Amino acid sequence: MSESVEESESQAAAPGLELFEYVPESALVVVAHPDDCDFLAASVLSAWVRQGTRGAICLVTDGDAGGDDARIPPGGLSQIRLEEQHRAAAHLGIETVLCLGYPDGMLQNTLEVRRDLVRVLRRQRPELVVTMDPTSRFFGRGYINHPDHRAAADACLDAVFPSARDVRAFPELARDEGLEPHRTRFVLLGSSDHPDIAVPLLAVDLENKLSALGEHKSQFDASDMRQSTLQRARKVGMQAGVELAESYRLFDLAPNPSQRGYRRATPETPAGVPAPTEPQSDWG
Ligand SMILES: [Zn+2]
Repeated sequence: MSESVEESESQAAAPGLELFEYVPESALVVVAHPDDCDFLAASVLSAWVRQGTRGAICLVTDGDAGGDDARIPPGGLSQIRLEEQHRAAAHLGIETVLCLGYPDGMLQNTLEVRRDLVRVLRRQRPELVVTMDPTSRFFGRGYINHPDHRAAADACLDAVFPSARDVRAFPELARDEGLEPHRTRFVLLGSSDHPDIAVPLLAVDLENKLSALGEHKSQFDASDMRQSTLQRARKVGMQAGVELAESYRLFDLAPNPSQRGYRRATPETPAGVPAPTEPQSDWG
């Protein structure tokens, strides 16, 4: 990712956000590059892990294209960036950092990528997945969203639904590796033009995010991000009635609508109360 996304106003555009105070038992962040996770979700990972969540991070590419230093041989940067990501994750209390190793800058949402993500989902078995909103194409006038970001997010969503859930999808994973189907309950999309929930944060979570961002020294200098990070968290917090928060677009994939919660408040459906009249989708 880049500071341009970090400076984007898109996350804070919606007036009125429902508080998402749920603490998942396990959370997996799926992103394209080392450092993407820390722009997208470091503060909420910090908040959840602080409250007992088992966190994990999956990088889809090797990050080897993210730099201008031609003296670094091919493959050299990916190793540096993976080490940076491990150090960043440690600030959030996370040990599990996976890297699928696809070439940076050339990622596509192929069946091979989807199968590898299904494998990760079935092994990690997260209750909640965070990825980028793949429909986010532009951020103001200053940033065209990286194609790897969109491809990784699309592949992640396609893996969550329906492939990780379906026993007949990629049958070799169950047959050869013993990986049983897995249903993810919640999906949160970051950097979205259509955020509808806000995850409450404490100041320590922003400090942990800044510490995590500060580990990506091969990519940027995070020392001047404090003010913008704090301002954005306050702005989102105001929209949700708390001091500090980060916004996302929420999907609740509970199979029965009556089991779903954390809905956005409307005159017909008070916050947190399921809407019993919503028809259940029959689409597989
Ligand atoms: Zn990136």
